Amino acid sequence: MKTIKLLLLLLLTAGCSTENKQQFASVDPAFVPFLEAFIQDSIEFGHSQAGQNIPINFAPQAELIKARCHKYSYWKGGMKKHSREILVDQDKWNVLNEHGKKTVIYHELGHCLLNREHLDDDIRYNFRYIKSSIMHSLPVGTLNGTSRDELYLYELFNNDQTVWSD
Ligand SMILES: [Zn+2]
Repeated sequence: MKTIKLLLLLLLTAGCSTENKQQFASVDPAFVPFLEAFIQDSIEFGHSQAGQNIPINFAPQAELIKARCHKYSYWKGGMKKHSREILVDQDKWNVLNEHGKKTVIYHELGHCLLNREHLDDDIRYNFRYIKSSIMHSLPVGTLNGTSRDELYLYELFNNDQTVWSD
């Protein structure tokens, strides 16, 4: 009898997927500076995202995934509700430098707050090919402290690739 109870408990636990509901309500202090910088930039580029609260926290992610904007739908009081949160893999985060961290968070906030999808175009710019957006699905060293940053930010907040035209 005891064995059956234990087995049942194990089965119930296994069936409780963390993927289907939001795990966190607040922002881990590690991400606050990046979220604040994003909100500041979004205001500068004409968006009014100020004060929008999106939880960002550490949680293990699948292989090769550094971070992800998770979107949830659920029913509450007869109404369909939606919520979003960003989950970041701590091991992969820890090996990134500051520019890499900023790029990851801006990419995920692009999904979660700007409703941007992936944009995998490479474009010719200054005689070489570069990724045209922070929303590229491959990891890009975009926000690397160079003058290109402004162009990437403009593209991100305006969804406008003409920024790369000569
Ligand atoms: Zn993405």
